Amino acid sequence: IRSKAIKLEKMEVVSQLAASISHEIRNPLTVVKGFMQLMKGRDISEETKEQYMNIALEELNRACAIIDDYLTFAKPFPEKVEPLHVHHELEKVIDMLRPFANMHGVQIVPTLMPATLKGNGQYFRQCFLNIIKNGIEAMESGGAVYVAVHVDEKTVTIVVRDEGKGMTKEQLARYGEPYFSTKEKGTGLGAMVSIRIIEMMDGTWTMESEKGRGTTMKVTFPLLSKK
Ligand code: ADP
Ligand code: MG
Repeated sequence: IRSKAIKLEKMEVVSQLAASISHEIRNPLTVVKGFMQLMKGRDISEETKEQYMNIALEELNRACAIIDDYLTFAKPFPEKVEPLHVHHELEKVIDMLRPFANMHGVQIVPTLMPATLKGNGQYFRQCFLNIIKNGIEAMESGGAVYVAVHVDEKTVTIVVRDEGKGMTKEQLARYGEPYFSTKEKGTGLGAMVSIRIIEMMDGTWTMESEKGRGTTMKVTFPLLSKK
Protein backbone atom coordinates (compact mmCIF):
# COMPACT_ATOMS: atom_id res chain seq x y z
CA ILE A 1 0.00 0.00 0.00
CA ARG A 2 1.02 3.59 -0.54
CA SER A 3 0.76 6.84 1.32
CA LYS A 4 -2.82 7.96 1.44
CA ALA A 5 -3.46 10.92 -0.84
CA ILE A 6 -5.08 13.04 1.85
CA LYS A 7 -2.69 15.89 2.32
CA LEU A 8 -3.32 18.08 5.31
CA GLU A 9 -1.77 21.46 5.82
CA LYS A 10 1.45 20.98 7.76
CA MET A 11 0.62 23.12 10.74
CA GLU A 12 -2.74 21.45 10.88
CA VAL A 13 -1.01 18.08 11.21
CA VAL A 14 1.26 19.32 13.98
CA SER A 15 -1.52 20.82 16.06
CA GLN A 16 -3.71 17.77 15.44
CA LEU A 17 -0.96 15.58 16.76
CA ALA A 18 -0.64 17.70 19.89
CA ALA A 19 -4.39 17.72 20.42
CA SER A 20 -4.59 13.94 19.99
CA ILE A 21 -1.95 13.33 22.63
CA SER A 22 -3.80 15.12 25.40
CA HIS A 23 -7.04 13.52 24.31
CA GLU A 24 -5.55 10.02 24.29
CA ILE A 25 -3.89 10.36 27.66
CA ARG A 26 -6.88 11.92 29.33
CA ASN A 27 -8.99 8.79 28.79
CA PRO A 28 -6.94 6.31 30.84
CA LEU A 29 -6.23 8.96 33.49
CA THR A 30 -9.95 9.60 33.90
CA VAL A 31 -10.48 5.89 34.51
CA VAL A 32 -7.69 5.84 37.12
CA LYS A 33 -9.20 8.85 38.84
CA GLY A 34 -12.59 7.15 38.98
CA PHE A 35 -11.22 3.98 40.53
CA MET A 36 -9.11 5.90 43.06
CA GLN A 37 -12.22 7.72 44.16
CA LEU A 38 -14.08 4.40 44.48
CA MET A 39 -11.24 3.01 46.58
CA LYS A 40 -11.71 5.80 49.07
CA GLY A 41 -15.20 4.45 49.76
CA ARG A 42 -15.80 2.89 53.17
CA ASP A 43 -17.34 -0.51 52.67
CA ILE A 44 -14.92 -1.88 50.14
CA SER A 45 -13.51 -5.36 50.60
CA GLU A 46 -9.82 -6.03 50.21
CA GLU A 47 -10.66 -8.15 47.19
CA THR A 48 -12.53 -5.35 45.43
CA LYS A 49 -9.77 -2.92 46.28
CA GLU A 50 -7.26 -5.27 44.70
CA GLN A 51 -9.41 -5.44 41.58
CA TYR A 52 -9.69 -1.66 41.35
CA MET A 53 -5.97 -1.33 41.91
CA ASN A 54 -5.26 -3.70 39.02
CA ILE A 55 -7.56 -1.82 36.67
CA ALA A 56 -5.91 1.47 37.65
CA LEU A 57 -2.45 -0.01 37.02
CA GLU A 58 -3.51 -1.35 33.60
CA GLU A 59 -4.79 2.08 32.65
CA LEU A 60 -1.59 3.77 33.82
CA ASN A 61 0.39 1.29 31.70
CA ARG A 62 -1.79 2.25 28.77
CA ALA A 63 -1.12 5.93 29.35
CA CYS A 64 2.62 5.16 29.34
CA ALA A 65 2.32 3.17 26.11
CA ILE A 66 0.52 6.08 24.45
CA ILE A 67 3.23 8.48 25.58
CA ASP A 68 5.85 6.10 24.12
CA ASP A 69 4.06 6.16 20.77
CA TYR A 70 3.81 9.96 20.65
CA LEU A 71 6.35 11.63 22.85
CA THR A 72 9.45 9.52 23.44
CA PHE A 73 11.71 12.36 22.29
CA ALA A 74 9.57 15.25 23.39
CA LYS A 75 11.22 18.58 23.97
CA PRO A 76 9.81 22.09 24.19
CA PHE A 77 9.38 23.82 20.82
CA PRO A 78 9.28 20.59 18.80
CA GLU A 79 8.35 22.46 15.61
CA LYS A 80 11.93 23.46 14.95
CA VAL A 81 12.90 22.43 11.41
CA GLU A 82 16.60 21.94 10.74
CA PRO A 83 18.99 19.87 8.63
CA LEU A 84 18.89 16.30 9.96
CA HIS A 85 21.69 13.82 9.51
CA VAL A 86 19.67 10.74 8.73
CA HIS A 87 22.38 8.28 9.79
CA HIS A 88 22.95 10.00 13.15
CA GLU A 89 19.28 10.22 13.91
CA LEU A 90 18.74 6.56 13.01
CA GLU A 91 21.73 5.55 15.14
CA LYS A 92 20.15 7.28 18.12
CA VAL A 93 16.90 5.42 17.58
CA ILE A 94 18.66 2.08 17.14
CA ASP A 95 20.78 2.60 20.27
CA MET A 96 17.66 3.40 22.20
CA LEU A 97 15.87 0.27 20.93
CA ARG A 98 18.76 -2.19 21.46
CA PRO A 99 17.74 -3.29 24.98
CA PHE A 100 14.15 -3.78 23.80
CA ALA A 101 15.38 -5.78 20.80
CA ASN A 102 17.65 -7.93 23.01
CA MET A 103 14.71 -8.69 25.24
CA HIS A 104 12.90 -10.05 22.18
CA GLY A 105 15.92 -11.95 20.90
CA VAL A 106 16.04 -9.60 17.91
CA GLN A 107 19.14 -8.16 16.28
CA ILE A 108 18.99 -4.75 14.65
CA VAL A 109 21.20 -4.67 11.56
CA PRO A 110 21.90 -1.16 10.24
CA THR A 111 23.35 -0.34 6.82
CA LEU A 112 23.49 3.41 7.08
CA MET A 113 25.07 6.03 4.87
CA PRO A 114 25.35 9.79 5.12
CA ALA A 115 22.44 11.91 3.98
CA THR A 116 20.83 15.10 5.18
CA LEU A 117 17.20 16.06 4.96
CA LYS A 118 15.13 18.91 6.32
CA GLY A 119 12.90 18.17 9.25
CA ASN A 120 12.44 17.99 12.96
CA GLY A 121 14.71 15.55 14.81
CA GLN A 122 12.28 14.70 17.56
CA TYR A 123 9.53 13.78 15.12
CA PHE A 124 11.89 11.93 12.82
CA ARG A 125 13.16 9.75 15.67
CA GLN A 126 9.65 9.10 16.96
CA CYS A 127 8.58 8.04 13.47
CA PHE A 128 11.31 5.42 13.09
CA LEU A 129 11.14 4.33 16.71
CA ASN A 130 7.53 3.30 16.14
CA ILE A 131 8.29 1.55 12.83
CA ILE A 132 11.34 -0.36 14.08
CA LYS A 133 9.60 -1.26 17.33
CA ASN A 134 6.72 -2.79 15.37
CA GLY A 135 9.29 -4.80 13.41
CA ILE A 136 10.81 -6.12 16.63
CA GLU A 137 7.40 -6.96 18.07
CA ALA A 138 6.49 -8.86 14.89
CA MET A 139 9.17 -11.47 15.61
CA GLU A 140 7.99 -13.63 18.44
CA SER A 141 10.82 -16.12 18.16
CA GLY A 142 13.62 -13.69 17.39
CA GLY A 143 15.27 -12.69 14.14
CA ALA A 144 16.64 -9.54 12.59
CA VAL A 145 15.36 -6.11 11.69
CA TYR A 146 17.32 -4.49 8.86
CA VAL A 147 17.53 -0.72 8.69
CA ALA A 148 19.05 0.60 5.46
CA VAL A 149 19.52 4.01 3.88
CA HIS A 150 19.55 4.57 0.11
CA VAL A 151 20.54 7.92 -1.34
CA ASP A 152 19.44 9.12 -4.74
CA GLU A 153 20.02 12.37 -6.65
CA LYS A 154 17.02 14.03 -5.06
CA THR A 155 15.76 11.69 -2.37
CA VAL A 156 16.79 9.61 0.59
CA THR A 157 14.97 6.37 1.33
CA ILE A 158 14.96 4.54 4.64
CA VAL A 159 14.05 0.88 4.45
CA VAL A 160 13.03 -1.08 7.54
CA ARG A 161 12.62 -4.79 6.93
CA ASP A 162 11.73 -7.52 9.37
CA GLU A 163 11.33 -11.27 9.15
CA GLY A 164 8.35 -11.30 11.42
CA LYS A 165 4.85 -12.61 11.19
CA GLY A 166 3.74 -10.23 8.45
CA MET A 167 0.26 -8.94 7.79
CA THR A 168 -2.76 -10.09 5.83
CA LYS A 169 -4.13 -7.88 3.03
CA GLU A 170 -6.87 -6.72 5.37
CA GLN A 171 -4.41 -5.83 8.13
CA LEU A 172 -2.16 -4.04 5.66
CA ALA A 173 -5.10 -1.98 4.42
CA ARG A 174 -5.78 -0.89 7.99
CA TYR A 175 -2.17 0.02 8.77
CA GLY A 176 -2.10 3.52 10.23
CA GLU A 177 -5.77 3.56 11.13
CA PRO A 178 -6.16 4.94 14.66
CA TYR A 179 -6.70 2.18 17.28
CA PHE A 180 -6.10 -0.64 14.82
CA SER A 181 -4.00 -3.14 16.74
CA THR A 182 -3.62 -6.91 16.72
CA LYS A 183 -1.62 -6.84 19.96
CA GLU A 184 -3.04 -7.61 23.36
CA LYS A 185 -1.64 -4.41 24.83
CA GLY A 186 -1.28 -2.40 21.65
CA THR A 187 -2.40 1.21 21.37
CA GLY A 188 -2.95 1.16 17.63
CA LEU A 189 -1.49 4.68 17.55
CA GLY A 190 2.18 4.16 16.67
CA ALA A 191 1.68 3.68 12.93
CA MET A 192 -0.71 6.61 12.70
CA VAL A 193 1.84 8.84 14.43
CA SER A 194 4.60 7.66 12.05
CA ILE A 195 2.49 8.32 8.96
CA ARG A 196 1.47 11.79 10.15
CA ILE A 197 5.12 12.62 10.73
CA ILE A 198 6.16 11.36 7.26
CA GLU A 199 3.48 13.53 5.65
CA MET A 200 4.51 16.50 7.77
CA MET A 201 8.07 16.15 6.45
CA ASP A 202 6.99 15.89 2.79
CA GLY A 203 7.78 12.20 2.71
CA THR A 204 6.05 9.27 1.05
CA TRP A 205 5.91 5.64 2.13
CA THR A 206 5.14 2.19 0.87
CA MET A 207 4.66 -0.96 2.86
CA GLU A 208 4.84 -4.53 1.66
CA SER A 209 4.02 -7.46 3.84
CA GLU A 210 3.49 -11.14 3.50
CA LYS A 211 1.83 -13.24 6.15
CA GLY A 212 4.39 -15.44 7.86
CA ARG A 213 7.29 -13.91 5.93
CA GLY A 214 7.86 -10.38 7.04
CA THR A 215 7.28 -6.74 6.37
CA THR A 216 9.18 -4.01 4.53
CA MET A 217 8.52 -0.34 5.09
CA LYS A 218 10.09 2.19 2.72
CA VAL A 219 10.03 5.86 3.54
CA THR A 220 11.31 8.48 1.09
CA PHE A 221 12.11 12.11 1.84
CA PRO A 222 13.45 14.96 -0.31
CA LEU A 223 17.25 15.08 0.01
CA LEU A 224 19.02 18.19 1.28
CA SER A 225 22.57 16.95 0.74
CA LYS A 226 24.60 13.76 0.39
CA LYS A 227 26.66 14.46 3.49
P1 ADP B 1 0.47 -1.29 18.08
O1 ADP B 1 1.92 -1.56 17.82
O2 ADP B 1 0.23 -0.59 19.39
O3 ADP B 1 -0.40 -2.51 17.90
P2 ADP B 1 0.67 0.32 15.69
O4 ADP B 1 -0.15 1.47 15.21
O5 ADP B 1 2.10 0.56 15.94
O6 ADP B 1 -0.05 -0.24 16.98
O7 ADP B 1 0.53 -0.86 14.65
C1 ADP B 1 -0.77 -1.26 14.27
C2 ADP B 1 -0.82 -2.71 13.84
O8 ADP B 1 -0.16 -2.85 12.58
C3 ADP B 1 -0.11 -3.69 14.78
O9 ADP B 1 -0.93 -4.09 15.85
C4 ADP B 1 0.19 -4.85 13.82
O10 ADP B 1 -0.94 -5.66 13.66
C5 ADP B 1 0.44 -4.15 12.49
N1 ADP B 1 1.87 -3.99 12.21
C6 ADP B 1 2.58 -2.85 12.20
N2 ADP B 1 3.86 -3.05 11.87
C7 ADP B 1 3.99 -4.38 11.66
C8 ADP B 1 5.08 -5.25 11.27
N3 ADP B 1 6.30 -4.79 11.07
N4 ADP B 1 4.80 -6.57 11.13
C9 ADP B 1 3.55 -7.05 11.33
N5 ADP B 1 2.51 -6.29 11.70
C10 ADP B 1 2.70 -4.98 11.86
MG1 MG C 1 3.42 -0.09 17.58
